Amino acid sequence: MVIAVCPAKVQVVPAQTPDLLVVGLGAVGCATLMHAAGRGARVLGIDRHLPPHHHGSTHGESRITRLAVGEGADYVPLVRRSHQLWRELEDASGESLYHACGGLLLANGDGDSPMHGQASFFDQTVRIARDHRIVHQCLDAREIATRWPQFQLRGHERGYFEPEAGYLRPEACVSVQLAEAQRRGAQIRSGERLQRWRVDQRGLQVETDRASYRPGAAVLAVGAWLPGLLGDCGAGTRVPPMKVTRQVLHWFAAEKPAEYAQEHFPIFIWCWGSAPGQVYYGFPDLGGGVKVATEHDAPCDPELIERRVNTAESAALHAVHVAGRLRGVSDRVLRTATCLYTELPGARFWIDRQESSGPIIASACSGHGFKHSAAIGEALAEWGLAGSRPDLLAPFANGPRLG
Ligand SMILES: Cc1cc2nc3c(=O)[nH]c(=O)nc-3n(C[C@H](O)[C@H](O)[C@H](O)COP(=O)(O)OP(=O)(O)OC[C@H]3O[C@@H](n4cnc5c(N)ncnc54)[C@H](O)[C@@H]3O)c2cc1C
Repeated sequence: MVIAVCPAKVQVVPAQTPDLLVVGLGAVGCATLMHAAGRGARVLGIDRHLPPHHHGSTHGESRITRLAVGEGADYVPLVRRSHQLWRELEDASGESLYHACGGLLLANGDGDSPMHGQASFFDQTVRIARDHRIVHQCLDAREIATRWPQFQLRGHERGYFEPEAGYLRPEACVSVQLAEAQRRGAQIRSGERLQRWRVDQRGLQVETDRASYRPGAAVLAVGAWLPGLLGDCGAGTRVPPMKVTRQVLHWFAAEKPAEYAQEHFPIFIWCWGSAPGQVYYGFPDLGGGVKVATEHDAPCDPELIERRVNTAESAALHAVHVAGRLRGVSDRVLRTATCLYTELPGARFWIDRQESSGPIIASACSGHGFKHSAAIGEALAEWGLAGSRPDLLAPFANGPRLG
C-alpha cells in the first residue's frame, strides 16, 4: 500500500488557531496527530520535511521492539500499550507493521552487559520480565546454539528469549498514522519549519517560516533538532543535557539468506563483552540483507551530518562485531544508512511542559524510543487536548538532571 502525504502546495491553508498544533511528524508526532484527530479536535501537523523521510531518527526498514525493556521498568506500560496500538493500526489499515519474530538478548557469562545507561542490561531485562510476568525463556549457550545455529558462540554465553519481541517497520508506521490522521480530519503541512514560540497574555504563539499560529496547545516532537531549537528560542526552558549522535546501519549479504529469514532467526542484541561499546544488534534478513549496527558516541549537528557511509566504516563494523559471531554473514555490503539519536543521560526520555500555556516537549529517543511511540503519541494527544498529564508520561517529566 502506498500512502502519500499531500505535498504542501496542494493543501488547503489551515485555520491559524487549531486546538492542537503538532510540530514534527516523525514517530512521536504522527502518532500524536492521529490520536488527537481521533478525539474530534481541530489538529494541524507541520514538518520541515515530507515524512516519512531519511533526515531524522525514523527510517531504515526496522526497529526492535521488546516488552522487558532493560532501560527501566517505567517503560513497560508504554511498550505494552504500543503493542496493542500497533495491532489495532494493522487491523484498521490492512498494513503489516509489527512482526513478533521473537527477540534474543545475549550476554557474556556472568560479566556486565553495559547498554543504554544500565551496567547490566541483561540482568535488568530478566528482572523486569519476571516482575512484569512477561513470557520469556532463559537459555544457556548450548540451548541457544541448538535453536539458532546461526550464532557462533564461545560456550559461556547466556540468553534471554522473548517470543513477543520482534521488529516494527518505521516508515510504514509513519505513513499509516499520517494517512489515518488525515482521514480523521487532521491537516498536514510539510515543508514548513517552526522558527520560534512565545507565551503571552493571550497564550501560546507559534511562528513558522510560513505562518503564525495561536493554537490551544502545541506538542514539539522535533527529534534531533530539539537542542538547536531550544538554543535558538527556548529561553526560560530548563533543558536537560542532550547529545545528538550519528548512527550507521549496515546491511550485509548472507551466504544463505533463507537461514536468516524471520521464520528462522530472531532480532537480537548481543552484549559480547563487558566494556562499553562491546555490543551490537541485528535483524532477520527481510529480503535485502542482514541489518546490523552498533552505537556511536560522537556528537554531531543534524544540519551538518555526513550522510555518506564510507566502506571502511562497514568493514570495521563487520570485523569487530559480526566476524566470528554470525555464521555465513559475509562482509559484502548491500546497503547502508545514517540516522540520528538524541541522547539523554541514562538513555532516558524527556517529555515535559514547563509553563501551563507553553508547548509540550517530547524527546523520546536515546536509541530506543520507536517501540513506545504509539503509546506516547496517544498520551500526548490526551495531554494537549485535556490539559493534564497522563500518568503514563509522569516518569519522563523534568528530564534527567535538568541543566
Ligand atoms: C539507527 C537507529 C536505530 C534505532 N533503533 C531503535 C530500535 O531498534 N528500537 C526502538 O524502539 N527505537 C530505536 N531507535 C530510536 C527511534 O527510532 C527514535 O526514538 C524515534 O524514531 C524518534 O522519533 P521522533 O519523532 O522523536 O524523531 P523524528 O522521527 O526524527 O521526527 C522529528 C521530526 O521533526 C521534524 N522537524 C525538526 N525540526 C523541525 C522544525 N523546526 N519545524 C518542523 N518540523 C521539524 C523533522 O523533519 C522530523 O520529521 C533507533 C534510532 C536510530 C537513529
